[in-house]
Amino acid sequence: MQEITIQTPDDLHLHFRDESMLLNTVPATARCFRRAIVMPNLVPPVTNAERLTAYRERILSAVPPGKHFEPLMTIYLTDNTDKETVTSAKAAGAVAAKLYPAGATTNSDTAVTDLERLYPVFEQMQKIDMLLLVHGEVTDTHIDIFDREKEFIDQKLQVIHARFPNLKIVFEHITTKDAADFVSQANEFMAATITPQHLMLNRNDLLVGGIRPHNYCLPVLKRSTHQQALRKAVQSGSHKFFLGTDSAPHEKHKKETACGCAGCYSAWSAIELYAQVFEELDALDKLEGFASHYGADFYGLPRNQGTITLKKEQWKIPDAIHLGNGEDIVPFFAGQTINWKVTDA
Ligand SMILES: [Zn+2]
Repeated sequence: MQEITIQTPDDLHLHFRDESMLLNTVPATARCFRRAIVMPNLVPPVTNAERLTAYRERILSAVPPGKHFEPLMTIYLTDNTDKETVTSAKAAGAVAAKLYPAGATTNSDTAVTDLERLYPVFEQMQKIDMLLLVHGEVTDTHIDIFDREKEFIDQKLQVIHARFPNLKIVFEHITTKDAADFVSQANEFMAATITPQHLMLNRNDLLVGGIRPHNYCLPVLKRSTHQQALRKAVQSGSHKFFLGTDSAPHEKHKKETACGCAGCYSAWSAIELYAQVFEELDALDKLEGFASHYGADFYGLPRNQGTITLKKEQWKIPDAIHLGNGEDIVPFFAGQTINWKVTDA
């Protein structure tokens, strides 16, 4: 196959960041995605309707003229979130609330320490049809970082899902066979996003031959058996797995340092990277469902109008993206050649 046309896709999980960074991140995603689920882990986090409305305005003002792009907003759950918070956020356009266990990832220090305190909030979300998005890792210091996702399933996610079986939950950026199996076997109110890096790489790509800070993200890359399970999940065409890049930029100097930040900035090549994976899996016919249908269906949103076309054409992902303020970002897969290119969006 030399060309593929799919219905316009959505990115169901990403980080736009804020302020001047928006001038790069928003056009990168609006390039080919019509909508995106925008993560709320700013400083300070987007915890209520008022902050959500202001953040959406900042994002919209960074959309290039002539592009149709709709940010789908989320709020950040804290120990202080209550029923009124989620209800007013929903009225302001929030489609979901994001659960970060405290300390799990970038800017998650103010996040949830006691899940049970949030049960009335989950109850209300279930009632008003607001999704729960979870960063599925425990953060107990004694739990090995490679086991944190499985522990989260066993200790937390099973409990929440059993208690609120009709609460729609997206298990974000899954990284393990355990997570893929759990989602497959759960009821229809449980789904998952999968990133390009977790489909393309495993922990050898992070650690063998020297530390590769630009492949460092959270949840961290796992062993290849887990990577293979994720590839199987998308290859299967199951509607429970859909596209969420977790594109998460950090300036180069914050990645290439003694204590580097977690996150891969994939927005400038995301749909092409996924196309490459699906081609390797001999499953290009499944790309459209994964990228354009299953996520919208799960969220209860209409599927997008319009299409994008990718052509088989080799190109090199740039070594750096210049932010215009003197800072650079090293994109995911920098300097490497990929085989697909969006030609019409
Ligand atoms: Zn994320």
